[in-house]
Amino acid sequence: MNDNEPDSPTPSPEEISQKLTDFFRENFGSATAFPAFPAGMSPLQPEGEEPPVEAEEPEEKIDIFDFDYRPRDIKKHLDRFVIRQDEAKKALSIAVCDHYNHAKYLRRLAEESPEEASAVEFAKQNVMVVGPTGVGKTYLVKHIAELIGVPFVKADATKFSETGYVGGDVDDLVRELVTRADGDVELAEHGIIYIDEIDKLAGQGQSMGRDVSGRGVQTTLLKLMEETEVPLRNPMDMQSQMQAMFDMKGGGKSGRGSINTRHILFIVSGAFSGLEKLVRTRMSKGMIGFGADSVELPMDSELFRHVSTQDFIEFGFEAEFVGRLPIRVVCEHLTADDLLEIMEKSEGSLLRQYEQEFAAYGIQARFERRALEIIAERASGEMTGARGLLTVCERALRDFKFELPGTSVSELVIDEELLENREEVLERYRVAGREVSVEKVSAEMSLFAAEFQRQHGVLLKFDDSAVEAVGGRSVTAGISPLQMCDSLFKDYQFGLKLIQKNTGRSEFELGEAAVDDPDGFLSDMVVTSYRGDEETS
Ligand code: ADP
Repeated sequence: MNDNEPDSPTPSPEEISQKLTDFFRENFGSATAFPAFPAGMSPLQPEGEEPPVEAEEPEEKIDIFDFDYRPRDIKKHLDRFVIRQDEAKKALSIAVCDHYNHAKYLRRLAEESPEEASAVEFAKQNVMVVGPTGVGKTYLVKHIAELIGVPFVKADATKFSETGYVGGDVDDLVRELVTRADGDVELAEHGIIYIDEIDKLAGQGQSMGRDVSGRGVQTTLLKLMEETEVPLRNPMDMQSQMQAMFDMKGGGKSGRGSINTRHILFIVSGAFSGLEKLVRTRMSKGMIGFGADSVELPMDSELFRHVSTQDFIEFGFEAEFVGRLPIRVVCEHLTADDLLEIMEKSEGSLLRQYEQEFAAYGIQARFERRALEIIAERASGEMTGARGLLTVCERALRDFKFELPGTSVSELVIDEELLENREEVLERYRVAGREVSVEKVSAEMSLFAAEFQRQHGVLLKFDDSAVEAVGGRSVTAGISPLQMCDSLFKDYQFGLKLIQKNTGRSEFELGEAAVDDPDGFLSDMVVTSYRGDEETS
């Protein structure tokens, strides 16, 4: 640095960030970005000085060690949202309670006797959920995480490879938990990681024949599921490394450099198609009634009772991997009746979503029971579980959602006819949408009159013919009746006040003639008002 240079003011974090970004762009290409420093985290923070205190205190901090749920409470909460899947709800509720009660117990023990706590053997209750797509597997886990207030991350096992996964590596999942926990590392260490499509990692047997790297990924995940330390900053990410460096300088408060995965709850899931056949085959060897060649039935709770660790190994999993997933549950296939129940009873029902979406345009959407039955039937045919409901509704209602907003339609009845003859019904709504309802026009004109009276002290009384004429004109012009009145009668106060002065009148009846030729009508009235007697007669 040149000592002779005049003191330049200390650059702001944003300026430094900009300079660094420019530097990286010049040297490493345009895709490089450098994050702005969060407020109060200036890289030039003088050592030992506290960064300025943030004005906003974090919201109420969740303390997982306050965990006080019983399995019954959790299941009851899930019942509000998830239809069926009773066995899965029970098993998950118990696993979650055991998991968090154990963490709570360890924490208490650690406070009293750290040596004893570290000596406690801990078999984690990681869970394997088997079930087809769209039957509530993710939905269950999401609601559990929400209820108990822990961060939750979901990923697909198909994204992983032995060496890492697209865009990062498996450790990123753990780091993502910290982000979801707003930087609270201890809370992240008790979060839930949910990995779907785990069956695609199966290496052999009845599976779809994933390449050998599936086994490698199993090993990587195994480490995570047992216990490992994951660095808080991705070692491959230069930006985050530099950020870490600045964090250290900025008061050295970052403290923890890694996240321990010991108490992270892992839930993995997959459809495991073919597993049921495998179990039946095995059963048929020793038992009657489980014939391998009997009709193919989806996996249900009854059959799932007979699924053994050996079946999973045969399916293509490493024994150690399956061994780390001691809790196994099945989420069953949903029938059309179940889908109907989801629409009618689940608190997160898609119907509420549709009602809200239409309500945003002032349209009240009303689903008739018969329509729900048809939607459920059609959705069931999609074979994508409850996801099919969205597909079917979207297909049936998309055009209505596009065309009706902004028309005068204020109610949409979703009934059998709409589903069966969509085009015809849509056309009917189109026509109705073009007609302006008399009540609506009349209400807007009353509003205009009330405002006119408030501002100018004279009352306008529109008769039926005026309402009809304004309605017609506003549709043609594509503006609201209120805007139409504003434009037709915008200078009326001057003439009317003159008449009021001449005659004492403060109420004026306006009909079709006033709408058709506002100026002419007004000037006639003014002229008449000068004739005195005639006007008041
Ligand atoms: P998956 O089983 O493939 O993880 P999801 O749990 O993501 O499927 O389900 C997709 C959506 O379908 C959920 O967000 C939810 O709205 C709905 N859904 C699925 N199963 C149920 C269920 N059993 N009860 C209520 N809604 C469900």
